[in-house]
Amino acid sequence: MSQIGTPENPVRVAIVGAGPSGFYAAEHILKDADTHAQVDLFDRLPTPFGLVRGGVAPDHPKIKSVIRVYEKTAAREGFRFFGNVKVGHDIEVEDLERLYHAIVFTVGCETDRQLGIPGEELPGSHAATAFVGWYNAHPDYCEERFDLSGERAVVIGNGNVAMDVARMLALTDHELHQTDTADHAIEMLDRSTIREIVVLGRRGPAQAAFTNPEVKELGEMEDADVVVDPADVELDQASQAYIESDEADKTTRVNVEILREFAQRKPSGKRKRIALRFLRSPVEIKGEGKAESIVIGRNELVDEGGTLRARDTGEREELECGLVLRSVGYTGIPIEGVPFDEKRGLILNEGGRVLDSHDAGHKTGHYTAGWIKRGPSGVIGTNKKDALETVQHLLADVAEGTLLDPQSPEPEAVEALLGERGVRFVSFEDWQAIDEAEVGRGEPHGRPRVKFVRVEEMLGALGEKVSG
Ligand code: NAP
Repeated sequence: MSQIGTPENPVRVAIVGAGPSGFYAAEHILKDADTHAQVDLFDRLPTPFGLVRGGVAPDHPKIKSVIRVYEKTAAREGFRFFGNVKVGHDIEVEDLERLYHAIVFTVGCETDRQLGIPGEELPGSHAATAFVGWYNAHPDYCEERFDLSGERAVVIGNGNVAMDVARMLALTDHELHQTDTADHAIEMLDRSTIREIVVLGRRGPAQAAFTNPEVKELGEMEDADVVVDPADVELDQASQAYIESDEADKTTRVNVEILREFAQRKPSGKRKRIALRFLRSPVEIKGEGKAESIVIGRNELVDEGGTLRARDTGEREELECGLVLRSVGYTGIPIEGVPFDEKRGLILNEGGRVLDSHDAGHKTGHYTAGWIKRGPSGVIGTNKKDALETVQHLLADVAEGTLLDPQSPEPEAVEALLGERGVRFVSFEDWQAIDEAEVGRGEPHGRPRVKFVRVEEMLGALGEKVSG
């Protein structure tokens, strides 16, 4: 293979997945002064930005402003976006191997983890990922239906997604109508009769995974009181010793302070309440043909090799509820032709270099970054550093000349292939036209945008402008 990464022979990289890690990987590659590169960023949706569009809660618009950073990457020379192209369906990994020197998988963790309890599959019991996708107008979830006609919803899990879904259920119409929440979700949430949202953490306040601003916000809702039982914030000895020690991280310490302050509050008569309960696990979801109640077990904490784990005490209670949202983390979905670590739900990799198998070496030219590389953790910015590690390895392999040797590295080849297959791909300019149309739909209502929900609507908004 002749020297690549030169102006005459740029390194051609396909990135699969246009979420934060895909954009950060593109940025790190394109800004490298020593390497001439071209990046094609693929996404199965016509819309870029992954969870920034489809995951971040609609009432958190500031978090979404990170999109400006990704737009700068998209404006760089050598960058192209191929939206509405599903790898494994419209184009195979084998095709990418014929067209690019390197492939970076940044597909995130697209599905939910299971609880493994009886009744989990009853109608009315949903993965929080589905609820999040539904209120964020993700095309995969637009047909989902959530029964919001009961009095109580139970959210299982103590992460930031649990905070988001609890808050979304408690927003007032007024708060909701200022956001870019999907119209179908606004309509249903307006009619919701849910008055109590119970959030169950299987461990204690000092083990919660949520962060300070997210839990604090629950105490500042326009029309919802936050309720914490004072007994729940009395820590066990080990947790108390931890938060008093130098090892304790600030987030944990402040979380406990916030929760203790919540425990002292008296309900102020707001219409809704969010009850945060700790050391509680769901044991069974019961109901005739749909979720009607949830059996909850009380836990105690036990030290297992330095980690405090939840152990069932055998004590039970049953709460009526028609809606259960399971928010216990995400996991990855394997991609045909890409080695996968089933146990961890991730692409098998070392520092972002995809491995052939647990004991074999690097799969030449294959890389990964973001959640599908390290697991569903951290905030959006965490992916910047994560992508840098991967790209540093990729650039080292450019220098070593140990990348793929594609048969058709010319930039037109991928367009020709997609054209032959009748794939209507969406360029970045096309996306900008969709974006403009959505923003235009929001303006008369004082909303940041009114999102299109179905792929056909998005493509329809392009009219003549569709490329491919
Ligand atoms: P997460 O932070 O990993 O939290 C998962 C929660 O589920 C933990 O409290 C965990 O408890 C609990 N859990 C796991 N298995 C369980 C089981 N079988 N029964 C009961 N509880 C169980 O996951 P996430 O909330 O999905 O968030 C994913 C990532 O996105 C996180 O890094 C999060 O910070 C980030 N995020 C950030 C924001 C924001 O910045 N505003 C918003 C949303 C998401 P244990 O600790 O006991 O395992």
